[in-house]
Amino acid sequence: MLVKGIVVHCSDSSFGNAQMIEDWHKERGWNDIGYHVTISNGQITKDNHVKFMDGSIEIGRDWSKAGAHAKGYNDHLGICLIGINDFTTKQFNSLVEVCLELMETYNLKVSDVIGHYECKNSGKTCPNFDVEELRSMLAAKKDEWNG
Ligand SMILES: [Zn+2]
Repeated sequence: MLVKGIVVHCSDSSFGNAQMIEDWHKERGWNDIGYHVTISNGQITKDNHVKFMDGSIEIGRDWSKAGAHAKGYNDHLGICLIGINDFTTKQFNSLVEVCLELMETYNLKVSDVIGHYECKNSGKTCPNFDVEELRSMLAAKKDEWNG
């Protein structure tokens, strides 16, 4: 698919990883995980926090395949931060790195990176943080990164 942008999500669960989300999505009758990338908060299960997993990045759905994460935006790659409304610094650092690389790969602008709540008629608050702040970070880092 021609990647038009990136939609940032949260899992709306306190724990999880790409495999668990894939299982949850398959329970809903989907044939694959809806997101293309997940970023762990280190909370592997409800009771099991693994510090070195905090900020770890996993690949979900194949990037050549359209996502299933935001109605009308499935030509966007979906990145999912594990968590509800409380994300770690390492997750944000990873998110910035992933976005910068995807922007480079798919020739995207900072403005092509949006939150689920910014999708037309989404009616969502997901990912429950101000994505404008992410865009500011990306704009600041972009020159540094390309330089
Ligand atoms: Zn979402």
